[in-house]
Amino acid sequence: MSKYDYLVVGAGLYGAVFAQEAAKRGKKVLVIDRRPNIAGNVYTEDIEKIHVHKYGAHIFHTNEKRVWDYVQRFATFNRFTNSPVANFHGELYSLPFNMFTFNRMWGVVTPEEAAEKIEEQRREAGITEPKNLEEQAISLVGTDIYEKLIKGYTEKQWGRPCTELPAFIIKRLPVRLTFDNNYFNALYQGIPVGGYTKMVANMLAGATVQEGEDFGNGVVTVDGAGSIEVHVGVDFFDAEGTPRADLKALADKVVYTGAIDAYFGYKLGYLEYRSVRFETELLDKSNFQGNAAVNYTDSETLWTRIIEHKWFEFGKDDEGNDIPKTVISREYSSEWKPGDEPYYPVNDEKNGKLYEKYKKLADAESDVIFGGRLGEYKYYDMDKVIASALDMCDRIL
Ligand code: UDP
Repeated sequence: MSKYDYLVVGAGLYGAVFAQEAAKRGKKVLVIDRRPNIAGNVYTEDIEKIHVHKYGAHIFHTNEKRVWDYVQRFATFNRFTNSPVANFHGELYSLPFNMFTFNRMWGVVTPEEAAEKIEEQRREAGITEPKNLEEQAISLVGTDIYEKLIKGYTEKQWGRPCTELPAFIIKRLPVRLTFDNNYFNALYQGIPVGGYTKMVANMLAGATVQEGEDFGNGVVTVDGAGSIEVHVGVDFFDAEGTPRADLKALADKVVYTGAIDAYFGYKLGYLEYRSVRFETELLDKSNFQGNAAVNYTDSETLWTRIIEHKWFEFGKDDEGNDIPKTVISREYSSEWKPGDEPYYPVNDEKNGKLYEKYKKLADAESDVIFGGRLGEYKYYDMDKVIASALDMCDRIL
């Protein structure tokens, strides 16, 4: 049986970047994934020529030129700009919080009027130093916006009261006194033309994706140096939930991108995650909601948002080029339990402490590198995952 330098567990972004970089530096890499496909949660699937973001909407954005230049090598990016719409009981608001939002909420027209309104509501709430998400939100945008656009959505997404959530989560969203509804404060933004799966396949050097454990086949050589081999449908864990010794023995080192607590059989207790369920429908109409993302910010609607996938791409609404169908996904958030897919780490104090304990165990595991959103238990965006993988490669390769 072949011997590899690295066994990469998980063919998502972290694993793919690591494999690419390691192979480029002459290493032999075996990549495995439990799912029948590569690309982890950025996986896109074609339905009626629409790239469906099967595990949730992913909009690539970054401020790091290094990361932007890096991804350009594996995909061409379109100029998509994320501008979600919030639907609160049929009232539509512009996101992120900007002058269009303030005008719709309060009728204010100038930035001064908007700033005054926010200041007035912040004063009334008497918040000086925000201690949780609720206080942080009110101090950023005032009570009205908190009540209509934040509270319901956040409590559905996280399944916890806003008073028990960390403030940093809401700081992900910009607040602007300009008429700018670009959701991200990022210099670079876009969606890979042809879908994310193709981009990740290119990172894996176009290696044939094989089913099962017949290792040693389908190896591709990268730059005439190292190599990558990809096998899907291979679970790193045995029936008892223990990392498989026979798989580990195939390589000198393991790069593990699954949940850190799962690696250790949850022996210190369960870290909390939020899971997401998608109800995806193919509709016999060309336009369902006129936007890629509509967030349902009330607390009564059971889903958090509806994604209409075709609007991530261009040319899907041109006359003549029109696709008479559309694919939508309703997104439902739930507390993770064993057997579910973990999506969002709940980065609060309690889980932070437990993570630190797992991190100590992980550090003692000298032949295993833990990386990515699940391996590092961090609410990472895609660009941060890539940066983290590149940094790791620079450090150890
Ligand atoms: N959020 C909100 N209302 C919205 C959208 C987002 O209150 O309409 C809050 C919510 O707490 C959410 C956080 O902002 O958890 C971050 O949202 P983001 O869109 O970054 O979440 P993701 O796309 O990662 O699910």
